Amino acid sequence: MLHEKLSSIYDNVLRRNPGEIEFHQAVREVLDSIGPVLGKHPEYAESKIIERICEPERQIIFRVPWMDDQGQVQINRGFRVEFNSALGPYKGGLRFHPSVYLGIVKFLGFEQIFKNSLTGLPIGGGKGGSDFDPKGRSDREVMRFCQSFMTELYRHIGEYTDVPAGDTGVGGREIGYLFGQYKRITNRYESGVITGKGLVYGGAQVRTEATGYGCVFFVDEMLKARGTSFDGKRVVVSGSGNVAVYAIEKVEQLGGLVVACSDSSGYVLDEKGIDLELLKQIKQAERGRLDAYAQRRDHATFVSGRSVWEVPGEVALPSATQNEITGEAAAAMVAGGLVAVGEGANMPTTPEGIKVFQEAGIAYGPGKAANAGGVATSALEMQQNASRDSWTFEFSEQRLQEIMHDIHDRCLSTADEYGMPGNYVAGANIDGFRRVADAMLALGLI
Ligand code: GLU
Repeated sequence: MLHEKLSSIYDNVLRRNPGEIEFHQAVREVLDSIGPVLGKHPEYAESKIIERICEPERQIIFRVPWMDDQGQVQINRGFRVEFNSALGPYKGGLRFHPSVYLGIVKFLGFEQIFKNSLTGLPIGGGKGGSDFDPKGRSDREVMRFCQSFMTELYRHIGEYTDVPAGDTGVGGREIGYLFGQYKRITNRYESGVITGKGLVYGGAQVRTEATGYGCVFFVDEMLKARGTSFDGKRVVVSGSGNVAVYAIEKVEQLGGLVVACSDSSGYVLDEKGIDLELLKQIKQAERGRLDAYAQRRDHATFVSGRSVWEVPGEVALPSATQNEITGEAAAAMVAGGLVAVGEGANMPTTPEGIKVFQEAGIAYGPGKAANAGGVATSALEMQQNASRDSWTFEFSEQRLQEIMHDIHDRCLSTADEYGMPGNYVAGANIDGFRRVADAMLALGLI
């Protein structure tokens, strides 16, 4: 049950944003946690901080026309939601996926506000993307799309204004084309305008690995808090994109055994442990499908069209997409011996799934906290760009590890402070919210 004031705020969010179900879900999840904060801080309600946080500062929707390899004109829709800039320039990725519409961009942008706040770094929250599907498109098509996308977006972004990066469907290749077009149109080599850049043109060490590594560091902290570790643990990962691949890499370095990962076609089960080099070859170099993995490794099996969450494991790292773990899947995971969950993806667990994990006493690290290492390392990239410096891999990874350790401890101590020990959801939402709310109060009614 929502606190009375929050319930009328939530009703307004539903009314003002019809049909945007993922956005509703993301707002509800935060509102469910912050009731006790309002009791302690009446000034937040007086200044309508929550109502203001739920309304994006600016929403941009634009046409993206481009020509495919057959010479046909294609039209996509582009989005950038500049949600909150109380703590710094809007910061958040771009997602290129056919499912993208305003409700997805707003859920991601809303989450990003609190995630970015949790990092303790000076970044506001925003998100963008397009319903463009890069799958099956040639490099030239992707380049033409990115150039057209940036030809509109460039006027809205800037190193002090709004700093995009990657998300699903936007990796190093796309970031390169986007930055190239920005540089060309503006005639400015403004490295800090976008993050996730390649190392040869202003990118930062560890940015590619950061979301996956950071998620595993976070889970490692949760396990340590319970007196255990990754050593010898059986781990299941969903996805096989950038987040999943580097989560698998770090789990293997810490002594865990990743037995399964997935893509949109199904999952692969490899009881000897996922062969990371083969996975990288298929998913990164060849941009292929996971069934190719089983074809090239005798003892592995590919299971078509089913959810990877039917595979039992002690640690689960959902790193594919939103709402992939239903209540039913969560119950099966718990029955299979689950100890900890670290969300590499944004909002991968449904509200029913979260309830199952929490009632079973699973160490459950929500995405805002567990996957914050990606955007945190983006902020470190901005820092290096601003000082025209570049740090070593070792130093950057150490910074990432410290940041994840810090986020973990703050989630736990905030949960303790509010009488909900071990509740990382409450800890993350309350701690992330408080910092933004205090900055908004300090900045006046803007
Ligand atoms: N898209 C990533 C996220 O969900 C990274 C954003 C960034 O680096 O700005 O946090």
